[in-house]
Amino acid sequence: MASPAAQKRVNVAVSRLIPPVLLGAVVYASYAVTKPLCIDYLIHPLPSYHRIPRVGAGAAILTVYYVLLIPMVVTYLHLYYHVLWNPGYLPLGEQKLQDDESNENEKKSKKSHRRRHRRSARKADQEKTTQSETDVERGLGPVSGGVEASPELDLESFYTKDVFVCQEDGRPLWCSTCGQYKTDRAHHCRELGRCVRKMDHFCPWVGGVVSETSFKFFIQFVVYTCIYCTFALIVSAYFTAEIRRNTGGANAYWCVCIGLSALFAFFTAGMTLSSLQMGIFNITTIENLNRRTAVWTLAIRVPEYLLDRLWDTQSPWAPTFRMVSYPPETSTPSQPQATNPSAGERHVFAILHTLPGENPFDLGSPFKNLQQVMGRSVLDWLLPIKQSPCADHSSMESHYALGPVVTRLKQEAGLVPPGNGAVSDPHIRGVASEGKIPIDDSRNISRALYSVLCLVHWITI
Ligand SMILES: [Zn+2]
Repeated sequence: MASPAAQKRVNVAVSRLIPPVLLGAVVYASYAVTKPLCIDYLIHPLPSYHRIPRVGAGAAILTVYYVLLIPMVVTYLHLYYHVLWNPGYLPLGEQKLQDDESNENEKKSKKSHRRRHRRSARKADQEKTTQSETDVERGLGPVSGGVEASPELDLESFYTKDVFVCQEDGRPLWCSTCGQYKTDRAHHCRELGRCVRKMDHFCPWVGGVVSETSFKFFIQFVVYTCIYCTFALIVSAYFTAEIRRNTGGANAYWCVCIGLSALFAFFTAGMTLSSLQMGIFNITTIENLNRRTAVWTLAIRVPEYLLDRLWDTQSPWAPTFRMVSYPPETSTPSQPQATNPSAGERHVFAILHTLPGENPFDLGSPFKNLQQVMGRSVLDWLLPIKQSPCADHSSMESHYALGPVVTRLKQEAGLVPPGNGAVSDPHIRGVASEGKIPIDDSRNISRALYSVLCLVHWITI
């Protein structure tokens, strides 16, 4: 059994190897359709075929073939670019950077010691290499993956949002490997050794990790590839059947083309359905693994107008949830201050839990969920140009758009301002928890659609 480190190296090596193999397959299929099929069989038939020229059919097939090939290649290149150069890594923590730097220095000094007795001229080159590697880890190099200029995600980047995913004590999730807080939905990629924003999966077919920066292009790529392969399969199979009827033989190029296009059409059809399912429910492939049982712990900011009640010891209003306040106190970080702080100075959060299987990022409608990935216009859906809206984290509400589950949690906890459908009176809070708050019908539609897609997916796989 290979060790995890060896397995990681194999995965990364395979991911680098597969893209050129795919390119070879496309070049081969293009040749098979262009020369042996369209030119040598349809437009200028070889004497051995004993057929009259069919220029119109040949030209039409060539045109459609290359029209379908272009979007597939363009989306793949765009996808490949983002996977390699903008994978959505979270920055490494300060401690991790220091550890890496000291490890590098240690390696450097060992190497220097070994080579001191060899050639002194090589020492300078060695230092240059080491510095370059350190820069890459600091997120300054060209493969930094679009990491922000800041090398650290401090607590302020969390508590200045109104809602964030947290641990039971109210602190953001933590990655011990990266030595860094994890933003909502970030996942540590074992193969790459980095936390990735809204990571979907590690995909050797595109040479790396598919995340919020590349999931849209991934969907476009598998859809266009499925259409392209289906066309190549139909054309190759049709003329193979024809030549078998007429001569009893077969063309080796067309047969290989049938095999390749059938394989990739089948594979990309499955990936298309699977990816659309993830988009429709606004979950990642990783989140989908425990979708039915996952419980999200959320820190939801307590509005300013409620804080007065919190600090007043005579108030009959008593919160039914645990709280945490930021910036963290040095003495009792998990408790709110006993005095009334100035407005805006403190950010007090209620720590609330979803029910098992609920997704706080499900916006309540399949279309809205897909828009978060694909964009808001038809051109956004078709062209691999703009980034997904979900990759924009400028909103002060949360790292990702939130859906009806969070609205319900706020209502049940009495955190919604009066006149906004709130159930702010603790005496009637029980009514809300008994399910008398109307549930968006689109959630039911979403679930029904998802079930149909699951069924289709299982049948095809
Ligand atoms: Zn990590």
